[in-house]
Amino acid sequence: MSEAARYTSTRGGAAHVTFSEAVLTGLAPDGGLYAPTVWPRLEPEAFKDASLTGTAQTFLQPFLAGDVLAPALADIVREAYDFPVPVQALDKDGRLGVLELFHGPTAAFKDFGARFLAATMARIQRPDQRPLRILVATSGDTGGAVACALHGRPGIEVWVLFPKGLVSPTQERQLTCWGGNVRAFAVRGSFDDCQRLVKQAFADPQMAREVRLSSANSINLGRLLPQAVYYALSSMAVWRAYREPASYVIPSGNLGNAVACLWARRVGLPIDRIVLAHNSNRVVPEFLASGHWRPRPSIATLASAMDVGDPSNMERLRALYPEISTLRGVVSADTVDDDAIRARIRTGFERFGQIWCPHTAVAAEVYERLPEVQRKSGRWLLVATAHPAKFPEIVEPLIGRPVQVPSALEELRHRPVHSTDIGASLDALRAAGKVAA
Ligand SMILES: *Cc1c(COP(=O)(O)O)cnc(C)c1O
Repeated sequence: MSEAARYTSTRGGAAHVTFSEAVLTGLAPDGGLYAPTVWPRLEPEAFKDASLTGTAQTFLQPFLAGDVLAPALADIVREAYDFPVPVQALDKDGRLGVLELFHGPTAAFKDFGARFLAATMARIQRPDQRPLRILVATSGDTGGAVACALHGRPGIEVWVLFPKGLVSPTQERQLTCWGGNVRAFAVRGSFDDCQRLVKQAFADPQMAREVRLSSANSINLGRLLPQAVYYALSSMAVWRAYREPASYVIPSGNLGNAVACLWARRVGLPIDRIVLAHNSNRVVPEFLASGHWRPRPSIATLASAMDVGDPSNMERLRALYPEISTLRGVVSADTVDDDAIRARIRTGFERFGQIWCPHTAVAAEVYERLPEVQRKSGRWLLVATAHPAKFPEIVEPLIGRPVQVPSALEELRHRPVHSTDIGASLDALRAAGKVAA
């Protein structure tokens, strides 16, 4: 791989940039999202080291080829991928398992992207002395993961925007307990409002004069790409065991996790079907069924981190598969309402002894609804996106017992919290931002 890796906008109207330029900018100047101009090729044979860090190194290397950060990749990988990614088998013949992505410091899969992004940003030399302000809109878990990963990093400020009253109490604590270089804004609106505010801030010349802005949402390449690593890791484990590709059911909202899986598949990892599991926010399942893209306001559900009515990574999904017929050949999608989420949490515990968070339960329910031939012929992994202890008020009454809290979450319980309430407008954000925290 001697060719330098370059990235360009999904809208085609931006210059080709390097990996670190794409990470520092977040969103492409034409409003599109960065994606590779040329796809590297990574056959299973390339993955000689089966460890998490070894897999990360093999997978990410061609994506950073020629970049100023390439020599630091081994260090970045060691720093970011420092927690386990176990698969829990749900049957004896290896046809169904749960890929647990919640063993990081904030107990959701967002830790992968956030920790990689933080390790990357801390090493990027910035062309000027303006502070770097990372804006992050969160439907629950992103903000906590990003705040945790960037807390205390010199020269970097984090502004977390979350929909007031629409995240779980544990999630809210994870967003608001940091202080220092992390500020939390409780926006009177929905996650979509928070996401819109971040996009507006990027387009605001005044803010751009004061600070260098970047984004830590999955629109940022440095958040999305590292998530492909656990698909490389788990699909290679299936491949080594059975010489068959893995299929995934992915709890989906903004489609970052789904696009990461599609990118892993695109470069040659042994991945077969990708099934998107949505809650009652059903724009994506409807699009796959009808071919019409009709984004709309999000509605609140039990799987709140997936309450997205206008998923930003749809743009990357469609750039990858401009023809819907090709997309349908790889990807399918289904939608699950709150009653079915509750019922699946109960049966997951009764049948498997598994305690699933509401998001993971959406995936488990969608899997159960797949045609039997698909279930019986594939090697399926249900993607578990968060630890159930983040949602005790939902999960505990359903399984009739307390959920054990991981020690990292337990520690946060003792920190003081602080956030600033704002209306859902850029003016309100600007004004609140000026006031010292
Ligand atoms: C963010 C999140 C999702 C949705 O992931 P996307 O990449 O936005 O599709 C699902 N589950 C949990 C627990 C999350 O935090």
